[in-house]
Amino acid sequence: MSQTMGESTADKKEKKASEYTRVVYDPIDTRHYGAIHTPIYQNSLFAFENYDQFDKAFQDLSAIPVYSRGNNPTVRYLEQKIADLEEAEDAKCFSSGMAAITAAIMSTVSQGDHIICINQVYGPTKEFLGSYMLKFGVETTFVDGSKLEAWEDAVRPNTKLFYLESPSTQMFQLQDIRACAELAKSIGAVTVIDNTCATPLFQKPLQLGADLSVHSISKYIGGHSDCIGGVVIGSSNRIKSLFNKEYMLFGGIMTPQTAALVSKGIRTLPLRLRRHEASALRVAAFLQEQPFVSKVNHPGLDSHPQHKLALTQMSGSTSLFSFESVMPLARIKEWANGLKYFKIAVSWGGFESLVTVNEVAWDNNSGSRVVVRLYVGLEEPDDLIADIAAAWKHAEALEAL
Ligand SMILES: *Cc1c(COP(=O)(O)O)cnc(C)c1O
Repeated sequence: MSQTMGESTADKKEKKASEYTRVVYDPIDTRHYGAIHTPIYQNSLFAFENYDQFDKAFQDLSAIPVYSRGNNPTVRYLEQKIADLEEAEDAKCFSSGMAAITAAIMSTVSQGDHIICINQVYGPTKEFLGSYMLKFGVETTFVDGSKLEAWEDAVRPNTKLFYLESPSTQMFQLQDIRACAELAKSIGAVTVIDNTCATPLFQKPLQLGADLSVHSISKYIGGHSDCIGGVVIGSSNRIKSLFNKEYMLFGGIMTPQTAALVSKGIRTLPLRLRRHEASALRVAAFLQEQPFVSKVNHPGLDSHPQHKLALTQMSGSTSLFSFESVMPLARIKEWANGLKYFKIAVSWGGFESLVTVNEVAWDNNSGSRVVVRLYVGLEEPDDLIADIAAAWKHAEALEAL
């Protein structure tokens, strides 16, 4: 408080307000009677007073609302909020994370191009790249994204896209975003990154050299397990081109109702994330000490092999992480059955803690491993730790019978 008071007017102008402030603050909008939330523009179309204005609007459909498959003011509000948080020029919202991801990928490649992607990428993205895109003659090489040599070795004369996802969302492996983006640039390829796990708050990929960043809004950004959405973030030029082609032509738009829900969710994003971060680090530290846990995969822990890299490109860690167990899959599933606060369900990013158990194999050499993915919600972490311990006792008791 006293610090702020001591600042000169010039200082105040230069310094960007904190993210806590920026998610909350909007200038008073007299077009909406000062309504504290941007109203839901439940319109398919917008009418014009004369043909001059109508013609002008068509010169830039991304800026002026004409039809809600293009620009809807409720959705546009959210796009600008997200772009600001990730320190980028512009953003475009989509009907889902996958709609955003596929549009971003299609915006960067043409027939016969080659893509390099991490082998731990989100499942549907892997299917889209590894299988669906083959019908356009676009081939993808999947690499161990943590090794820069693997990217270098995979480069072909027709490589046009590096696709990253850092942290990945099963094994929580990172890629060196700066180094990957630099390599991509040197061969004339673009870098797209799925930034869903880190959020716009804790990682700003465009500042690290990436060209486009994509998110599933269905996770932390929405934050309440009540909607599905996606966003592509980038420079004005890249977003304008994406708007005119993949956005307008595929038509995978976000509805104004969803944008209004997400715009409420985003007000508490910094607040929620700091709580998620602290709670998850406590739960992860507890798990590291448990006999049934062989390894915890959480980039915020010292024990994570890329923890140092995390510190150079992320400003915080989130609350999705995994652990590996020597216990057989059936016993781990019994453990999951005994949990009270962690619900058995896909997805993550809402208020409620979640668990899934998977057998995963990323490459043919290392065999498959039992991986438990935990999402730590907003509950009291002591309650979550007690829940984990009690469920383990329950699973052990069942085993003894
Ligand atoms: C959920 C998710 C997606 C897909 O998002 P949808 O909104 O479900 O389409 C993509 N990437 C990651 C990392 C995700 O967790």
